[in-house]
Amino acid sequence: MLKNKNVLITGSTSGIGLAIAEGFAYQNANLIINGITPEDNCSAILQELSNKTKGKVLYVQADLIQVCEIESMINKAFSELGSVDVLINNACIQHVSPIESFENDKWDQIIALGLSSAFHTSKLCLPKMRENNWGRIINIASAHGIVASAHKAAYVAAKHGAIGLTKVIALETAEANITCNAICPGWVLTPLVENQIKNNAEKNGWTYEHATQELLREKQPSMNFVKPDDIAQMSLFLCSEAANQITGSKFVVDGGWTAR
Ligand code: NAD
Repeated sequence: MLKNKNVLITGSTSGIGLAIAEGFAYQNANLIINGITPEDNCSAILQELSNKTKGKVLYVQADLIQVCEIESMINKAFSELGSVDVLINNACIQHVSPIESFENDKWDQIIALGLSSAFHTSKLCLPKMRENNWGRIINIASAHGIVASAHKAAYVAAKHGAIGLTKVIALETAEANITCNAICPGWVLTPLVENQIKNNAEKNGWTYEHATQELLREKQPSMNFVKPDDIAQMSLFLCSEAANQITGSKFVVDGGWTAR
C-alpha cells in the first residue's frame, strides 16, 4: 500500500524521525528526509535508507523554524516527486526553564518548530492530497500533549496545540479520504532525552545511569523507554487500510505515563 507513496518526515536525521523513515523504507516508499544538517554530513544515513527501500530517497536541508524554508522544502518535494502523500510532522526541540526565566527566543523557536511548522506543511501538502483523493498526516506530539510538566512551557503548549491542530485537520478532511492523527510518545531514548538526562545528572551530581532511572521513575511506570521503532510501527499502522476510518485521534505510547 505504501509502495510508490511519497513520505515526508520532518526532523528525520536522528531519533524517532529516523526510525520512522526506516519503517517506511522497508515498505519501499519514496522518502523525503529533512534536517538542519548539510547533506554531506548525512550521507551515511541516506545511503542506509537507500539500501532499505526500492523507492527514492530525497534529502532536504531546511530549518523549519523559517516559513520560507518550509515552502522551499515542500516545493522541492513536489518538483522531484510530484506530491507528498504521507506527511509526518516530527521535528521539535526542547528547552527546560522556569517560566520567569524562559528565554523569549526559545519560546518562539519551540512554538514555530513544534506547532506552526505542522500548520504550514499541512496547509501546503493538503491541496495535492485532495487532488489525489488520498493522504495521511501524522503529528508526533507527546505525553506532554496530554499532561504537563513544570519548566517545559513552550514544549507543553506546542504539543497540546499539535493535538488541537490534528483534530481540526481531521474534521476539514474527513470526506476526502485523508486522515490526520497524533502519536503521543512517552520517554524515548534519543538525543532530545539524552541531553535532559545529562543535564539532570550534572545538576544533581548523579551518574548518568542514576539520572536515567530517576527520569523513568518520575514519569514512566513501565520503567522502560519506548523504542523509536514502536513509534514507526504505529505510524505505519495509521497508514494501513485498517486505519482508514481513524482520524482526529491521538495514540499514546507512553509506558503508562498518562494513566496516572
Ligand atoms: P531528536 O533530537 O533525536 O531529533 C530531532 C530531529 O529534528 C533531528 O533530525 C533534527 O535535525 C531535527 N531538527 C531540529 N531542529 C530542526 C529545525 N529547526 N528544522 C528542521 N529539523 C530540525 O528528537 P526525538 O526525540 O527523535 O524527537 C522527535 C519528535 O518526537 C519530537 O517532536 C519530539 O517532541 C517527540 N517526542 C520525543 C520524545 C522522546 O522521549 N524522545 C517523547 C515524546 C515526543
